[in-house]
Amino acid sequence: MSEFGLIRRHFTRSAPGALLGVGDDAALLQVTQGNVLAVSTDMLVSGTHFFPDADPFLLGHKTLAVNLSDMAAMGARPRWATLAISLPEQNDEWLDRFSAGFFALAQQHEVDLVGGDTTRGALTLSVTILGEVAYGQALCRDAARAGDDIWVSGELGDAALALAHLQGRVTLSAEDYAVCAGRLHQPQPRVALGLALRGIARSAIDISDGLLADLGHVLEASGVGAILDIDALPVSALLRRQRQTRFALNGGDDYELCVTAAPGRRDDIARIATRLDLPLTRIGQVETAPAGRLRDSHGADITLEESGYDHFG
Ligand code: ADP
Ligand code: MG
Repeated sequence: MSEFGLIRRHFTRSAPGALLGVGDDAALLQVTQGNVLAVSTDMLVSGTHFFPDADPFLLGHKTLAVNLSDMAAMGARPRWATLAISLPEQNDEWLDRFSAGFFALAQQHEVDLVGGDTTRGALTLSVTILGEVAYGQALCRDAARAGDDIWVSGELGDAALALAHLQGRVTLSAEDYAVCAGRLHQPQPRVALGLALRGIARSAIDISDGLLADLGHVLEASGVGAILDIDALPVSALLRRQRQTRFALNGGDDYELCVTAAPGRRDDIARIATRLDLPLTRIGQVETAPAGRLRDSHGADITLEESGYDHFG
């Protein structure tokens, strides 16, 4: 099968939300009046972000999920995506399952795949996601203010626990691994939460490299510090039982949202948690500069070094 046959078979679906999708030199997209385009790219490289023998269906899901998570963190509605894929060989069975995983999640979020690029090479998957957000409504990293509450969605650390098990740093029983594996392989991007928080939260980030690292980005960008109540971090019963709650601070791959909001918004946030059936936990408070300083509830510094995953660290 030619490159064009491959694209037609595996990556061409109807794109009702686009003026023109896959097949021409460029896609044509109409942004809704009054909205701005939110654009983000995330790349997954075999051996770095996933095991070379990863389940292709789950990989298709995760390739899009990590990008949807960036839209969630901006409070943007994801609408379109492009996919650049580099493949060592044409394996139709693998591609069928990869695209099934990708399109299942795309359909769930009404995202159209409108273009991309396909080449031969080491397995690499790069998605550019395009979303819309009303002018001035995006949830940016630089908007946290002293006095804001800090909130986090869901539970933290289970994805890192599953990864540690696969890497032999932790040993879990088969049943325990089954409990956390989905958090690593099939993260659920918090798109509905990001949309609900527009006009309520002040700043937001998605947790991909660990809470300390990602909250650190918000604090640096906003020129503020924070007090973190480490005992309040939402962790699973499994993480607690395994005595690995440190993963909630510096594990990666959670894809939960960490947001700040004025204390006057607590009722609004509780209502959103109920409506979305997703726990939202208050884990600290933003304080004045120095920028990036993070302290625990006893006032001791929490260092950002050794936390989060830095590819060039
Ligand atoms: P060009 O030579 O103009 O770059 P290509 O042959 O690379 O065009 O791609 C042909 C069409 O297929 C384009 O519309 C492109 O966006 C789309 N396309 C290529 N690869 C992918 C892919 N992996 N997923 C979705 N669309 C793709
Ligand atoms: Mg091309």
